[in-house]
Amino acid sequence: MPMRLSDHDLLQLTEEELLELPEEVLRRLSIKLLYDLKEARERLRQTSRNSSRPPSSDPPWDKTDSNEEGKHKQQEKDEFAGVDDQAPDTEEASKIESEEKTQDEANELQQTQKQKDETSDKRKAGKQPGAPGYGREQKIAITAEAHHYPTACVRCDGELNQDAAKAYTAFETVDLEWADPTNPGIRLTNTKHTYYETACTCGHCTQQAPHRQLSHHLTPTIFLSEWRLVGPGLAALIVCLAYRMRLSRARTQEFLSDWLGLEISVGTLHATLHESGAAVLPVEDELVEAVQNSGLLHVDETSWPELNTLLWLWVFCGQGVVVYWIASRGSELLDNVLGSAFQGWLMSDGWQAYRYYLKRLRCWAHLIRKAEGLKDGLDIAARLFGEQTLLLLNTLIKAVYAARERPPDQALPITYQNALSDYRCACEAMSASASPTKARALAREMLNDWEAIFQVLAQPNLPLTNNEAEQALRHWVILRSICHGTRTEDGSRILAILISVIETCRVRQQSPWIYLAAVIRQRRAGFSAPGLPLVKGSE
Ligand SMILES: [Zn+2]
Repeated sequence: MPMRLSDHDLLQLTEEELLELPEEVLRRLSIKLLYDLKEARERLRQTSRNSSRPPSSDPPWDKTDSNEEGKHKQQEKDEFAGVDDQAPDTEEASKIESEEKTQDEANELQQTQKQKDETSDKRKAGKQPGAPGYGREQKIAITAEAHHYPTACVRCDGELNQDAAKAYTAFETVDLEWADPTNPGIRLTNTKHTYYETACTCGHCTQQAPHRQLSHHLTPTIFLSEWRLVGPGLAALIVCLAYRMRLSRARTQEFLSDWLGLEISVGTLHATLHESGAAVLPVEDELVEAVQNSGLLHVDETSWPELNTLLWLWVFCGQGVVVYWIASRGSELLDNVLGSAFQGWLMSDGWQAYRYYLKRLRCWAHLIRKAEGLKDGLDIAARLFGEQTLLLLNTLIKAVYAARERPPDQALPITYQNALSDYRCACEAMSASASPTKARALAREMLNDWEAIFQVLAQPNLPLTNNEAEQALRHWVILRSICHGTRTEDGSRILAILISVIETCRVRQQSPWIYLAAVIRQRRAGFSAPGLPLVKGSE
């Protein structure tokens, strides 16, 4: 929540002044001070470590290994260090980071320059407004003006007269108007926002200021701010180009320049993606809840490099929800996301992390691929076992499909009781044999996961494959080959939350971009993120 009193207000309030205030005015001011003190205390308590945890559980991406911890500390250090002493592979990331910081610092400086001139000669370290590297060459025609006036005095609550207001700062925001089928095309708007300050009859000068706050969820370099060149709709377009269209930063820049005539630096693109990710992070709780409430969940994972660490991109596809996390491959993520709240069926491949779930289903596509591999081998016993596996699975697939069309008179596990027990004997013989390891491994896998594999016979409407989760990863596997993974823990979190929101909106047949723009607009103004759109038709 925003603070009630700005630095500008506090500079005007002195001890002597408080002593002279009438009781009623002092009371009202105390309430504001109390509110701000509580807010400040809460912010203090949120270290970068505990603030990256979702309220509901321990973070799914939490890494308990102490070496990992050390690595992240080092990464954070690298990220915030100056550009000059960077290793070549981290140089780009830290340059971008520092550009982003500079932009924020410059904004802040510009905003408070007047006070500083009045109160002190000291200049804040870092780039000054107007210094090389800051500011935009491109001048865009202004299409609209917005004037922001203070309405009430912060000290005495007295109404302020707009006629007495003086403009003290201004900035421009480029945004886009949404196209629709009757009015296609992309049109940009450029709104000049002017902010005013007004002196009250009590002597206090109140400023209306653009809202700006630190993201509580990430390391404290990311601000959510109304003071941005990139408006919420344009930010959504940049997220779309980067993730849905899988364009590199350079290609995104090229597209915006060639098609929209808009020159935007790589640093600003990067800052826009980070701010957008920070804006939607609170939606994670809603996504986790939707995953936990799913009656059937498809889960899969694929490798994902985070700088020099090999992590995994996990996907959870539930009912009207698709959520991604980048984490280690152990069972912590599953435990933290699903906990004891998840009571549905879990469809997965044979990875051991899934073994602890009682209501588990196995993807038959993997088993069939393995059996086909054996059938084409040179060892007779292995070939026979492969053929036997394929014959049984293919017979059962037909039976499951038929049962979905028309419920059978007799339950499938009873109809195929003998075939299953014969096959089980074959698996037991193979798992104890000296045959080639692949055949033995498949036999052991079948025995280990017997219940999970053949559960579908009792409930033929459950799925036979994990295609849904595998498909949900495919798009991002291509992105991985373009961007070579992520560079930092924050970068991974931002990618995961943004693509979760994009894909969840898409399975709900809703525009991710309109939703994303609404979240960014609300969060920049200090409000909470609106809830995810419901499945189309059920609103
Ligand atoms: Zn006043």
